Amino acid sequence: MPDLPADEATPADRPPPRIETTAVTAGRGMSRDSLAPVLFPSTTYVVDTVAEHASMVGSARPGKLYSRFGSPSVREFEDAVAELEGAEAALASASGMGSVTGVILGLCSSGDHVVATRQVFSVTYALLAFHLPRFGIDVTFVDGTDAAAIAAAVIPGRTQVVLVETPANPALSLVDLAALGAITGPIKVVDSTFGGPTVQRPLEHGADVVLHAATKGIAGHNDALLGVIAGSAELIDAVWAWQSVMGAQASPFDAWNGIRGIRTLPARVRQQSESALQLAAFLEGHPAVSRVSYPHLPSHPQHDLARRQMATGGTVVAFEVAGGGEAATAAIEGCRVARIALSLGGPETLLTHPATIAGRYTPAERTELGITDGLIRMSVGLEHPEDLIADLSGSLAALARPS
Ligand SMILES: *Cc1c(COP(=O)(O)O)cnc(C)c1O
Repeated sequence: MPDLPADEATPADRPPPRIETTAVTAGRGMSRDSLAPVLFPSTTYVVDTVAEHASMVGSARPGKLYSRFGSPSVREFEDAVAELEGAEAALASASGMGSVTGVILGLCSSGDHVVATRQVFSVTYALLAFHLPRFGIDVTFVDGTDAAAIAAAVIPGRTQVVLVETPANPALSLVDLAALGAITGPIKVVDSTFGGPTVQRPLEHGADVVLHAATKGIAGHNDALLGVIAGSAELIDAVWAWQSVMGAQASPFDAWNGIRGIRTLPARVRQQSESALQLAAFLEGHPAVSRVSYPHLPSHPQHDLARRQMATGGTVVAFEVAGGGEAATAAIEGCRVARIALSLGGPETLLTHPATIAGRYTPAERTELGITDGLIRMSVGLEHPEDLIADLSGSLAALARPS
């Protein structure tokens, strides 16, 4: 809810603001003259007349009524994300999984069919593989790197949603967004968490809904559990109707931290991507490393696609150490700057060992997902890249030394 209509906010003699500028200004529709976004913790809002109350209760997504339906800090965050993504509307939820579950259960009914890429976040996989069948929703999994397979899995008249993740957990394979956008019929949803609005633009490629675990890069400081989707007002209203029943609304505090994160998102992602590329190149040249996956490295199997649809290679690097699980464990535990923790996109560089924490996958699925015993996922933070290279260098050198 910007204060000014768009044509007044952007005079004709100025170019439309770039995303770095939008990120600084977006999401202040309810903060009035406060430069910093205002936190509205209230769960309920007063009005003067019964008629006013009645009209608010009847409207979709009221910004001020009762905070399960919507609240000002959450609305400011949603408006900011909608503006960044160039979408009509956005809807925040209590976590990234709140958004994934909200969009699927809000848009699908018993008897519907979902096509999903196999390379997805492990909890999303659990929803699709183990929970949706309980609701009579069938899921077909396809290889996300095979654009033709995604399109071929769509059953005309039955497939309600196509859900993809790109770049995908944990080995950073990509989905061709233009090919996805060309599919007609189902609602196409892109989990863009590993990219974010400054890296890739799924809606511009024809996706219907872009989804972020804003817990990660968007909030960006490891202090807000938050999810968000953006798309047409019609789709957002439909998911909102379900989500306000499910009770998965974002907390005002987390949404407020989300707007705080958005203001620095472009600068953080630019720096983290630059460091990630440097680290990926360093790792690729290291004798203890057998494989590196980073979208903007020429060795990435989908490098041309990465250059076409991603402005940077993102903030996550996946690499495999020779010597399997034991070597990976030693490499991870040998780091001092990079720490062991879940999540990504924050200021701290974080390492995980997917083989020991990934969800309920069969050995065949693990192979397909690239989850080898030696695989390490690194979310690159804001430390100086040379300090990170020195950290990894020290840890990997110890691997090579006979003990
Ligand atoms: C973390 C993550 C999620 C889930 O987000 P939460 O905030 O942890 O619920 C969904 N998708 C991707 C790609 C993620 O990385």
